[in-house]
Amino acid sequence: MTTERCRLEHLARAPLPTRFGAFELHVYRFDDPQADPSLSDEHLALVMGDVRGQSAVAVRVHSECLTSEVFASLKCDCKGQLEHAQAEVARRGSGVILYLRQEGRGIGLANKIRAYALQAEGADTIEANQRLHLPIDARQYDVAAAILRDLEVKSVVLMTNNPAKVDALSALGIVVEDRIPMLVAANPFSQSYLEVKKKKMRHELPSGVFNQKPEPEPNDGSESPDPAAAH
Ligand SMILES: [Zn+2]
Repeated sequence: MTTERCRLEHLARAPLPTRFGAFELHVYRFDDPQADPSLSDEHLALVMGDVRGQSAVAVRVHSECLTSEVFASLKCDCKGQLEHAQAEVARRGSGVILYLRQEGRGIGLANKIRAYALQAEGADTIEANQRLHLPIDARQYDVAAAILRDLEVKSVVLMTNNPAKVDALSALGIVVEDRIPMLVAANPFSQSYLEVKKKKMRHELPSGVFNQKPEPEPNDGSESPDPAAAH
């Protein structure tokens, strides 16, 4: 714990009005010698309400995805998940969204775009990383656990479809009381990515709820709907 405290530094905080309501934004620095050197060591906590000393706080642990969140890329569902989490926290009146600078599941932006290039040639998201000799998921959650402890959150309900994230946080000493599924619509571009997450990465995706296609057509694959998954 002492080591963890030394690695985490609270840099700044300020109110942040958003479309979803009023949050307080905290900026932290976290020293992680194992992180890809291209990644920022500044991580964010978007907090609504008084969470200190509280149990069963709604928490989203979200990893940065520039292509989706800035450029509205349709290749993944990250922006939708982030906005869904903000809306859910606002609906509850309190909660925490941790925004971790782990672009491309921790491989960095350039490597992620290299993988996209291979995907454009037909590789799926896992095969592309394998061909680049990159880990499929290099994300670490030590920083998430450290920030939750700094915010004095006693226990969480985690907004995710990814059981591995629940396991990872639990292993770091965070009490996860429950999991809230994240339900975001797939689109024709993200469909195959989401299917890989479901079939190869053990994400738990409820069936049939989210394929929001305006005009369902025969033979368009909509008979095997796959909703979205955590980052
Ligand atoms: Zn993404």
